[in-house]
Amino acid sequence: MSSNSPNLKDYSLASLRDRFSEEGIPAYRANQVMAWLYQRDVDDLDLMTDLSVELRAALAERYETRAVEVAQADQSSDGTRKLALTTHEGHRIEAVIIPEARRNTLCISTQVGCPLACDFCATGTMGLTRNLTTAEIVDQVCRAKGCLDEEDGVISNVVFMGMGEPLLNLAAVKEAIAIMTDPRGMALAPRRITVSTAGVVPRIPELIEIGPINLAVSLHATTNEVRDVLVPINRKFPLEVLLETLRKDPNVNKKRPVFFEYTLLEGMNDSLEDADRLPDLVRGIPCKINLIPANPHPGSRYRAPEQDVMDRFAARVHEHGMRVTLRRSRGADIAAACGQLANA
Ligand code: SAH
Repeated sequence: MSSNSPNLKDYSLASLRDRFSEEGIPAYRANQVMAWLYQRDVDDLDLMTDLSVELRAALAERYETRAVEVAQADQSSDGTRKLALTTHEGHRIEAVIIPEARRNTLCISTQVGCPLACDFCATGTMGLTRNLTTAEIVDQVCRAKGCLDEEDGVISNVVFMGMGEPLLNLAAVKEAIAIMTDPRGMALAPRRITVSTAGVVPRIPELIEIGPINLAVSLHATTNEVRDVLVPINRKFPLEVLLETLRKDPNVNKKRPVFFEYTLLEGMNDSLEDADRLPDLVRGIPCKINLIPANPHPGSRYRAPEQDVMDRFAARVHEHGMRVTLRRSRGADIAAACGQLANA
């Protein structure tokens, strides 16, 4: 077995059943394997005792079951934990566990690096090395589970907001979501999963038709002029194209609002004119707006506005009747906050 072997975590239950059938293994064996991998959190084939010894040996010969390993774990003063993970070839990615009152959210990566080069994002400075496989995406959840004690509780929510642009790796992301939401897999309700995009517009409908997962869109500006600089993919898919697509997609509705992320960058997008334009821009799109104070990272020329400026911005957006929250930044002391994930 080499690191080029297929990985059992690359397959949703349907795909694994098909694959097993083709290999002459009864399809129901796939259900047993899934239960071990994701419900009992066992990935050592030797321990899968309801499979015959011969089948265990045959699978171990052909398949990997682990795809990423924890290289380093850092804990922030606020409880946020950043996991530096390595792929089999030694590429580094990051995942972040964010404990909250009644839940633990895990933020996972979809690419090694990112090609979109957003001006204020640390990952954007790396360029793209490659897409992650389904197994590498799913295994981030398995490794995070392994870092939690009983008193920590379980991973209850997953956000695709780590390194990379999920919609540029959509096939692997869809297969990973199938594993996460399968009652015989990780059994997470789709509503506990959020996928964020910087605006790869043509792939948005395909993503949100897979089921009632949440869509987050990185907006960050109220004019094309500013968004062209902050989120360069805007030059290809400008604001009006992005917003029109969301406006007419039947999978965006009151029950499934879009979460617009708006990182506040001092002197760039934090004026009251921006706050007044924002509601007009998204009119007709059921949505919530998450304001995020800019997180610093080495090489970034941006910083967050003063607290009173952010409070006034939030209040103004709220006065227009929008649902808006100003997030606290978490994990900044260990460079685990939004836009700080990069190979150190
Ligand atoms: N590529 C996807 C997934 C990453 S989500 C996307 O862009 O949506 C990460 C979020 O953090 C995005 O909204 C991103 O714009 C935001 N972000 C990036 N750099 C940041 C920074 N320095 N401070 C605060 N938020 C940042």
